[in-house]
Amino acid sequence: MTRAHNFSAGPAALPQEVLEQARDELLDWQGRGVSVMEISHRSPEYMAIATEAEQDLRDLMGIPANYKVLFMQGGATSQFAMVPLNLMGAASKADYLNTGHWSIKAIKEGRRFGGVNVATSSEDQNFSTIPDRDSWQLDPDAAYVHYTPNETIGGLAFADIPDVGGVPLVADMSSNILSTPMDVSRFGLIYAGAQKNIGPAGISVVIVRDDLLGQAADACPTLMNYQNIADNDSMLNTPPTYSWYLAGLVFKWLKRQGGVEGIAQVNDRKAAKLYGAIDGSDFYSNPVDPRYRSKMNVPFKLQDDNLNAEFLSQAAEQKLLYLKGHRAVGGMRASIYNAVSEESVDALIAFMADFEKRYG
Ligand code: PMP
Repeated sequence: MTRAHNFSAGPAALPQEVLEQARDELLDWQGRGVSVMEISHRSPEYMAIATEAEQDLRDLMGIPANYKVLFMQGGATSQFAMVPLNLMGAASKADYLNTGHWSIKAIKEGRRFGGVNVATSSEDQNFSTIPDRDSWQLDPDAAYVHYTPNETIGGLAFADIPDVGGVPLVADMSSNILSTPMDVSRFGLIYAGAQKNIGPAGISVVIVRDDLLGQAADACPTLMNYQNIADNDSMLNTPPTYSWYLAGLVFKWLKRQGGVEGIAQVNDRKAAKLYGAIDGSDFYSNPVDPRYRSKMNVPFKLQDDNLNAEFLSQAAEQKLLYLKGHRAVGGMRASIYNAVSEESVDALIAFMADFEKRYG
């Protein structure tokens, strides 16, 4: 069996070691004769898995003690509603930065719950850049500032954590969590769906500063109220136990790679190589301002869109999979998350050069 080079945007590649461990433990977890899937979330054995996963995530991200870590369901999309339901409070208004597809989704959902001020937008530049910080129209009385540090579809990423003064900063880190060191203390809340850098789909992580809890709207459903989830160690009802366990295995794997600091070096190299190959050719192009290019999602176009189908089918023959760009952008997109190896990126670059030679 040979594993493919998997450039899927999400659900995305998982580390092979993690899949092998899950396979080995599938029928008989720790000699108990049962699968992790088959045991109660309230059993001491499972509680140990859950607690250890949280601790490993805390270690990896350096999460301060005054932050709660919640494991939730509903994906990142449910967080578009939970954030305003829990954090808008009496101000009933929030600032949002619009840098692309996922920002827009968060903005639209936020508007259902209160006033949403779009403090800046690069829509008129086709989301190819981040507007200068000086031009943002932030409201000092906003309950929070929401942004998307990495736009998965556009391949646009903030180079730094934005300075928004004393207003809590909320980040949708679905596609860049754990990819590079981040100072958690700069954030009021971080959320992420698991299916890129954390584990399989079905679970999401919320990291929230504890002083922001306890102000949820009256109408906030029980299971969407962060305070309730925190008070019950994310076990108010049955959590997605197997996804949580797999996330825990991914955290252990990441520790073995030298943690976030270690993987960030690999991620930097992978992205630099791939953008270097794109920029070094007249056949491939990437439209994003080089200062704000994503290191996780690399969209690129071929000189001639009529070659797209041929490119994808020949790539697939080389086991280079899921390179088709999002329909909103077209062209190609290589998602190169933590679990995508440098060898996979090298294989893609070699294929691209060869394809260019034959069709360029
Ligand atoms: N935000 C971002 C940045 C994403 O990349 C995605 C998924 N691709 C989502 C939100 C939506 O995530 P989910 O499907 O888990 O709701």
